[in-house]
Amino acid sequence: MTAKNILILAGDGIGPEVMTQVKRIIDWMNGKGLTNFAVSEGLVGGCSYDAHGTPLTDETMQRAMDADAVLLGAVGGPQWDNLDFSVKPERGLLRLRKDMELFANLRPALVFDALAEASSLKLELVKGLDIMIVRELTGGVYFGQPRGIETLPNGERRGINTQVYTTSEIIRVAEVAFDLARKRGSRVHSVEKANVMESGLLWREEVQKLRDAKYQDVHLEHMYADNCAMQLVRTPRQFDVIVTDNLFGDLLSDCAAMLTGSLGMLPSASLGGDLGGGKRRALYEPVHGSAPDIAGQNKANPLACILSYSMMLRYSFGLLKEADLLDQAAQNVLNAGIRTGDIMAAGCTQVGTDGMGDAILAELSKLNG
Ligand code: NAD
Repeated sequence: MTAKNILILAGDGIGPEVMTQVKRIIDWMNGKGLTNFAVSEGLVGGCSYDAHGTPLTDETMQRAMDADAVLLGAVGGPQWDNLDFSVKPERGLLRLRKDMELFANLRPALVFDALAEASSLKLELVKGLDIMIVRELTGGVYFGQPRGIETLPNGERRGINTQVYTTSEIIRVAEVAFDLARKRGSRVHSVEKANVMESGLLWREEVQKLRDAKYQDVHLEHMYADNCAMQLVRTPRQFDVIVTDNLFGDLLSDCAAMLTGSLGMLPSASLGGDLGGGKRRALYEPVHGSAPDIAGQNKANPLACILSYSMMLRYSFGLLKEADLLDQAAQNVLNAGIRTGDIMAAGCTQVGTDGMGDAILAELSKLNG
């Protein structure tokens, strides 16, 4: 197997701390011959601004375009809050998503048995929960034209954003959702507001047409976004894959995420189009930010970043056994009562970022025989 190129952009705050634990796992897997990854690193966010005056250099952008997959930590921090909008740390992340054309954002909401008590919902509602939300990421109201704030002749001001989708934008993200559903529970909920928005009606029609043409084996249901929000906190286990637009996906994925208890546990993937030869651009990152309040204190939970790496194994490289191995190691470590501060519970053993990395590596060695 020729080496696959992974670009690591650890970023700011706790980004480098959690990424250190992922790099230990990559080294371990390479050492065992389970993977063959060539890892290179670059700067993104505030650290890139400090070094180069920009949150992402053209050179790093090009390396991300050429990589087989990109793994990102987190960006931002109070020391960069007052920078001009054009060079804020988050602009680096937005440029990566835009230039790599990452149109499908995958956010699993998975409840580990050992952490089910941490959910804000009752245990019996969330035990075994495993939802995948697929959010359209490059279209819709966050990007639609016209947009802006204008002053009307009568002196009043008017703010404008435009919700707009084309058939191809809908179809490509729906295909990602249907393909994922085939590998999971074969059920897709497509979510919009077709009752009050034409773009939602088009979304509904196109998703249905695609299902009838290519995915008859997958069960499809349409649901209005407001109902979906209610159902997520009422009977969340009814969902397998949810596919929705940029705005509704932003809200619903955060809502679903909180069913699982902690920000320090949530991975994500953002996928681009098929480039041929089984290759597609992809960026994997924890959902959490740079957590400046705990940065540099060996307190951050590295599991969100570690589980993002597991998603990379699964979705960029089809290394399902290796991804399962890592997920199982995380599960076992949690079952053994090992916890970072954010997920600490009575009777458990509290460890730091390094300690969680140690525990995962020890468990990997045990599971791998
Ligand atoms: P945050 O996610 O960084 O932190 C929110 C809270 O959760 C904090 O109390 C933090 O300590 C805790 N937390 C987050 N991740 C944790 C982990 N792995 N382990 C333990 N505790 C964890 O969000 P915020 O405080 O709103 O933002 C801080 C900075 O991060 C800001 O500059 C913001 O712009 C940036 N940010 C970046 C991203 C990203 O890089 N994708 C996402 C969100 C926020």
